[in-house]
Amino acid sequence: MCREKIDSLLRPLVKKAIKLEPRADDEASVASCESKFGGTPYAEVGDSWPSCPTCKKELTFVNQIHDELEQHLFVFYYCNECSPWGLGDEQKGQWEVKLYNEPKTERIAEIGRNSHDEYSPTPCKVTASFVDVHPDWEGLDSASRELSDLCCKINDDSPWEEYEEAVERAGCLNDYATLLGGYPRFVQSESIPTCPKCNTDMKFYAQVDSEDEANIMWGDVGLVYFFRCSEHKNEFKMELQCH
Ligand SMILES: [Zn+2]
Ligand SMILES: [Zn+2]
Repeated sequence: MCREKIDSLLRPLVKKAIKLEPRADDEASVASCESKFGGTPYAEVGDSWPSCPTCKKELTFVNQIHDELEQHLFVFYYCNECSPWGLGDEQKGQWEVKLYNEPKTERIAEIGRNSHDEYSPTPCKVTASFVDVHPDWEGLDSASRELSDLCCKINDDSPWEEYEEAVERAGCLNDYATLLGGYPRFVQSESIPTCPKCNTDMKFYAQVDSEDEANIMWGDVGLVYFFRCSEHKNEFKMELQCH
């Protein structure tokens, strides 16, 4: 009886996300408008390869995500020398997100690095698929109090196990993955940054997992999370979490 109630409370929380699975492919080496890891990033006239203000080295191009809903391309660079965690006191520019509206092949301008990048990911094409995702146990907010209370009632010692079972029953993705949209699946505790311009909570945008295929490892099998202001759409914050 309780479990049926749990299932019905979970159902409205489920969201669609796009799961992005990298597969090594030399064709991903060249610049394109597609989602991909490594190789040459999408860039337009006037762009140059970004450098880190702290160590002065060129950043690593990690990946780009074609957001079909918003018709833009999200391009992510990161400094592997300084390995920023995305905390407030780090010098700005140790990581960078560039957002391109309506990316087009004919607008591509090749940008190149001056130096060899020992951290460059293996070029990968990406397969995108829709998945159902749920908030993680810690991400259940006060509006889901009834759901967490019920899980506690059934399993007082480890209520999250009851919750995870409900997630399995709902057929939701129950693992770490590179995702666009949906909910963040935190390795450590929940953390939602605020927009520096308007001070409101930012919205989860995407997470990039440690991906063997692309030869990307965030700390000890961690992830990076991106948050975006719904008002100031070019304001992103990044956070790296690992075990
Ligand atoms: Zn650096
Ligand atoms: Zn804002």
